[in-house]
Amino acid sequence: MQLEIPVLSFDVSSLLSEIRADLFPELTGDIHWLFCEMQVLACVNVYDNGKAPLIRFHSLLNHPETPKLIMRSIFIHELLHLKVRPGEIDGKQVTYPPEFNQAQTEINRDQQRSTELNKAKSGFWPLHHLAEARTC
Ligand SMILES: [Zn+2]
Repeated sequence: MQLEIPVLSFDVSSLLSEIRADLFPELTGDIHWLFCEMQVLACVNVYDNGKAPLIRFHSLLNHPETPKLIMRSIFIHELLHLKVRPGEIDGKQVTYPPEFNQAQTEINRDQQRSTELNKAKSGFWPLHHLAEARTC
């Protein structure tokens, strides 16, 4: 995998540190991130062997005009996956257990940024160029 040098207008690692300190102090240990070509907008890889989790962002987000609010919102979503692990409901593996959606709703409400965020998303061109503009 070729490493991409970030060209965003802000420091992505500092943003991650801020979010972790504010909202996820219980997540200790390293969390890595990178930009790469892939099917979806963002994704987090969790490993069983003790390796640090890896948050991957689509290359389209590696752009000087990428709004900080969008990166922030994606980071929060992926960090929530580390906090609320997939569960089993009626014998089925569920990526988004009810606790996940509840926690995400609470964070969004506390941040009171959903209107701003939706505005940023609708005007942000890379999202219109990606067939699968979703996170997982
Ligand atoms: Zn997800």
